[in-house]
Amino acid sequence: MTTPSTRVFDGHNDTLIDLHIPERGGGRSFFERSETGQVDFPRAREGNFGGGFFAVFVPNEEYEYDRTETDEGYEMDLPPAIAHERAKHFTYDVLARLHRIEAESEGTVRVVGDYDDLEACLTFEGTIAAIPHLEGAEAVAPDLSNLDLLYAAGVRSIGPVWSRPNEFGHGVRFEYPGTPDTDPGLTDAGRDLVRACNEKGILVDLAHITTAGFEDVAEISTDPLVVSHAAVHDVCRVSRNLTDEQIDAVADSGGLVGITFAEGFLKKDPHSNADLPISGLVDHVEYVADRVGVEYVALGSDFDGADVPEAVGDVTGLPDVLAEIRDRGFTDEEVRKIAQENWLRVIEETWE
Ligand code: ZN
Repeated sequence: MTTPSTRVFDGHNDTLIDLHIPERGGGRSFFERSETGQVDFPRAREGNFGGGFFAVFVPNEEYEYDRTETDEGYEMDLPPAIAHERAKHFTYDVLARLHRIEAESEGTVRVVGDYDDLEACLTFEGTIAAIPHLEGAEAVAPDLSNLDLLYAAGVRSIGPVWSRPNEFGHGVRFEYPGTPDTDPGLTDAGRDLVRACNEKGILVDLAHITTAGFEDVAEISTDPLVVSHAAVHDVCRVSRNLTDEQIDAVADSGGLVGITFAEGFLKKDPHSNADLPISGLVDHVEYVADRVGVEYVALGSDFDGADVPEAVGDVTGLPDVLAEIRDRGFTDEEVRKIAQENWLRVIEETWE
């Protein structure tokens, strides 16, 4: 019975933002077990969380999400663009916080920017690998003049957009039912950013990007296409989920889809108040595996950024997710691919 203890590499969490904004995270510390939030060090250990991309997401200031209920679901306006200067300062502060966490961790949390270090972290039970990811590239100067500095601070993954417009492109607006084809694609600066990321060995994350932006990246990028946290549109017709065509493109490039645990992207019926069983999450994993192969699906929880099924609860629920995947008929070897090896393959290829 090796599988349930497989350490997970998780494609996305917002834990740093919870820690950085006390009102959002309840003022908790990463090193103490908390009743609030979904990831802290004690719970990560208990859940066999080996590492993941830790997002730096810059919230809009004084913005209330304007959600309109419709007959079939809901629509939301896109939040406005945010200023580069504020995004830059916020991002530098959050990156500084992560490096403080590493310094205070006595070797148990490592900011990892090198493939061999990542592999070693995942092998050594005591260590957690944290890789900074920019969820929306607002902190990157439009002329890319601070990209080297961000790289030096450990950033190894950038999503050109979150669900709002910026200098680099457009994000998907949240709608149900809806498709990702909501707004235009990359700007010229966005194309330059993708080329620069390819060159430096920074992963380009396609979560939150529009159909047009996805196609722009597919055309330009020389690396595998990666969507860190999303689910399957054929199962849940929310605009943030991936169409069959996009899933095929990801697999053709040798990339992967990290299946999100965000309940609103998993439920077939977003109006249903019923708790989603873990099998409802595994439906999305299985769909991608059946359609294109088990090599192209992984996990991208969005812990601390989304409501996850109660049956998962928090990061301590990861072994239950793996157990449910195995119960669905995946072999131990396939569960290992989904849990970490697919992510490792894509990261190795991208960071080289
Ligand atoms: Zn997100």
